[in-house]
Amino acid sequence: MEHQLTIYNTLHRKKEIFVPLHAPHVGMYVCGPTVYSDAHLGHARPAITFDILFRYLTHLGYQVRYVRNITDVGHLEHDADEGEDKIAKRARLEQLEPMEVVQRNVNHYHKEMESLNVLPPSIEPHASGHIIEQIELVKEILKNGYAYESKGSVYFDVQKYNKTHNYGKLSGRNLDDVLNTTRTLDGQSEKRDPSDFALWKCAQPEHIMRWPSPWSNGFPGWHCECTAMGKKYLGDTFDIHGGGMDLIFPHHECEIAQAVASQGKDMVNYWMHNNMITINGTKMGKSLGNFITLQELFSGNHPLLEQAYSPMTIRFFILQAHYRSTVDFSNEALQAAEKGLSRLWEASKNLKKIVASATSSIDTSALKENCYAAMSDDLNSPIVISHLFDATRQINQIIAGTATINQADLTALQETFHLFLTDILGLREELSSNNERELAFGQVVDLLLEQRHVAKVNKDWATSDKIRNTLTELGFEIKDTKEGSEWKLNK
Ligand SMILES: [Zn+2]
Repeated sequence: MEHQLTIYNTLHRKKEIFVPLHAPHVGMYVCGPTVYSDAHLGHARPAITFDILFRYLTHLGYQVRYVRNITDVGHLEHDADEGEDKIAKRARLEQLEPMEVVQRNVNHYHKEMESLNVLPPSIEPHASGHIIEQIELVKEILKNGYAYESKGSVYFDVQKYNKTHNYGKLSGRNLDDVLNTTRTLDGQSEKRDPSDFALWKCAQPEHIMRWPSPWSNGFPGWHCECTAMGKKYLGDTFDIHGGGMDLIFPHHECEIAQAVASQGKDMVNYWMHNNMITINGTKMGKSLGNFITLQELFSGNHPLLEQAYSPMTIRFFILQAHYRSTVDFSNEALQAAEKGLSRLWEASKNLKKIVASATSSIDTSALKENCYAAMSDDLNSPIVISHLFDATRQINQIIAGTATINQADLTALQETFHLFLTDILGLREELSSNNERELAFGQVVDLLLEQRHVAKVNKDWATSDKIRNTLTELGFEIKDTKEGSEWKLNK
């Protein structure tokens, strides 16, 4: 490969040259959403981060199998294997089947990901569709002596595992830290040790989602699905496992323990984690009242929002920060992103208009190498964007007539600008990227209603009715008032 990609491996806490196990094939697994409610801003970040990795690896010539799962069972409300299943709880509250809740939220998620121009993964497995594989995983761990059965549930024996392996090698925690931060909750008497985690849970009588197993009618522990499905679709060892930083502990630490305890070795060569999004400097959370869903961002319908933000504004805003840095949401930051992105689209349009000269008075050749170097340096998207802004200044100079460019340089500049802006960063022009278009269409409707008013004054009922009927057919609702006509579009 011409451009040597380096990625930050959380496991070794450093950037490493990316060498796939079986080039040109790359196996990549990313933890997807738990679909108990609508996706929020926090879901957009891992989706976009691993989307640009998927796009870039594909662009470099790799054949990527990208697996991103849907968690639809086993994710309990509390970390310590306690509380109700998040999906079962939502189903109970809304009096729906759990799978209705799952289907509805998966449908929404897909639509929102499409809006954000996030490419669909190669395989999107559901946890509930892989119960057999998860039971097999638990059997292997039991057989190897790293788990025990207790009242129909099966728990991973962390203390025993830690004697010969390093539980905490990904998160950097040692077992004492884990114990000090583990809450002791009711029902933990089933566990030998509070640091143990559930591989299989015996279902309580009221629990709807349950499957037969050698131990009880129950359901798998949350961490099992990613180990079982990663192995099924990507093999015993694969290249990349990604997710949000909040998943490093316990989820990914437990995944490593499960893989090692079941097959004697870890499954993953490169662990990658995106940082979190804060809102006005504080953590986002339902209980904090600063929780913004993607739908609310797209519609502007939330008390914290001064306006609607288009999906591409959100995408650009997220890409303006390196994926390992925090991103702080604020209206000002989003508005700045909106402006910045429209400057890039303006440059992209201007690029098409430029007429080549005989010679180039400016050097545009560095753009391509600079952009590749930034992307290959652990997906440094903010640096790629800054190079695109440098190119924008050059494009503006050419348009203003203060610089010239020859045909060969122009073609190269057009290709590189387009490649990084749309193919690799995955930005696409939106019809209503600003409200100008809608405003223009609205003014046309106003103009028609003025014409209708003139027709009415002239008692030209045929024209007046024609305008009204046509607008109504198109979905406009016209209301005549003393001050004139009002309209709204019912679409
Ligand atoms: Zn996972």
